[in-house]
Amino acid sequence: MKALVKTARGPGNLEVRDMPEPVCGERDVKIEIAACGICGTDIHIMKDEFPSDPPVIIGHEFSGIVTQTGPKVTRFKPGDRVSAENVCIHCDECYMCESGHYAICVKRGAQGLNINGAFTKYIVCNEVNVYRIPDRASLEEAALCEPMVCAVHAVLDQTKVGAGELVIVAGPGAMGLIAAQAARAEGGRVILTGTTADEERFAVARQLGIETTVDILKEDIEKVTQKMSGGDGADVFIECSGAAAAVDSGIRLLKKRGRFTQVGLFGKNVSVGLDALVVKEIVMRGSMSHTRNAWKKSLALVEEGKIKLAPLVTSVYSLDDWKKAFDDFEERRGIKTLIRP
Ligand SMILES: [Zn+2]
Ligand SMILES: [Zn+2]
Repeated sequence: MKALVKTARGPGNLEVRDMPEPVCGERDVKIEIAACGICGTDIHIMKDEFPSDPPVIIGHEFSGIVTQTGPKVTRFKPGDRVSAENVCIHCDECYMCESGHYAICVKRGAQGLNINGAFTKYIVCNEVNVYRIPDRASLEEAALCEPMVCAVHAVLDQTKVGAGELVIVAGPGAMGLIAAQAARAEGGRVILTGTTADEERFAVARQLGIETTVDILKEDIEKVTQKMSGGDGADVFIECSGAAAAVDSGIRLLKKRGRFTQVGLFGKNVSVGLDALVVKEIVMRGSMSHTRNAWKKSLALVEEGKIKLAPLVTSVYSLDDWKKAFDDFEERRGIKTLIRP
């Protein structure tokens, strides 16, 4: 089967190759991939800024249809529409695993990084990592399950956004647009921030019901925050852009004892002023990957129509056109770019 393979460490070394079809083990589900999204991590793997174990098929944000199940599989049958979590290697013995945070296990391994991923025709997954897609979501939308769960984990599990709280989400990319919807689903009042380059993304946000969008180059975000919070500042700041300036502004816009959650990666050391963190007793934390809890909650939110993914899919390419698809991502064209095998 044709697959997009990282052939060796070092920058580049990415090509479409013929790879053997994976074999379905006893507890595995074999999935025919419908679509796989491009993630920032894929770009980092291409540039060798993120460690991978080549030769390996990359791609980890996918959906598809079950074509075969192992003899010990009980929950799935051929024809089921599914997505799966890519972090499928963990020790199940360390403190992180035992407390449900297997996705940050020290022995963590993931499809599309350490073992074969989803920019290809078939993948096999242990049934414990597979989830049925809600009927209302198309297979293309469902390719966004994995990034959705990351955003929901940040907003619900980590930050615990509550009803009536003022939540600023910085960065209207796929993660930000999902985080904003999740915060709203929890009863938060959301301000989504970006720059003039995000005009198209703001339009999608408004289509999703996120009414307050702020172009920080044109509008005074401080004024908007003061007005919406009655002068106290925001309760929560979710940083999805990976821009240092957004961190500074988040700390400034939060109220005393507000909560700051970092979701975007910077990819380098950044300089930010942290004195206000001390003075205002702000709680700052990071959020990475997901938990089973976040998977279940996310899929329920899609089922109820509280998270909509369709408007986030802005282009779909064939596997042979993978380079064009990667260029779209790097040049920030559209929101989510998918590849069909
Ligand atoms: Zn990803
Ligand atoms: Zn572990």
